[in-house]
Amino acid sequence: MNLWNKLMCYSRRRSPWLFHMNGGSCNGCDIELIASLTPRYDAEQLGVRLEGSPRHADILCITGPITHNAVGAIKVVYDQVFGPKAVVAIGSCPATTNVFIESRTLDGPLNKHIPVDVFVPGCPPRPDAIIQGVAKAAEILAERASKKLPVAPVVMPLVGEGCGGACACGGSGGCATKEVQA
Ligand code: SF4
Repeated sequence: MNLWNKLMCYSRRRSPWLFHMNGGSCNGCDIELIASLTPRYDAEQLGVRLEGSPRHADILCITGPITHNAVGAIKVVYDQVFGPKAVVAIGSCPATTNVFIESRTLDGPLNKHIPVDVFVPGCPPRPDAIIQGVAKAAEILAERASKKLPVAPVVMPLVGEGCGGACACGGSGGCATKEVQA
């Protein structure tokens, strides 16, 4: 690996830029993602930055159970993020469609449409779990840039109380794990 590539890998790992997309969520996960960037959790201090354009981002963060309407937009945005890139599914919804599983308006889970690198379970996941998931995605991104791939999808452990049993996983994170391993 030449010096330029080493520098790119280092920058990606130390300062991942995110693009956030809502795939039909109830906004619970979106609020937690924003909370992770606000002063209490302050992911920005660690170099994480929310970007307004997918063309400037390294990591795509997707929330929600993936509605039919969102599928086309998600695929377009995924193609707009320059490679190497990583995808983080935030919450139990994009991993399993969660409590909306029988809904006719849905076309989830997310990994049916695009490859997902990190699943952060919870309904919603806590901001510290989201930060942990983004940090894992930054690591995967650096490995991908240095061509050490393939990297298998990762399911992050629940941090703190997680969803508290309010979602389909019953608080164990098992719903996301089962779906990814299937
Ligand atoms: S995982 Fe829970 S909080 Fe997040 S979008 Fe789904 S229902 Fe809402």
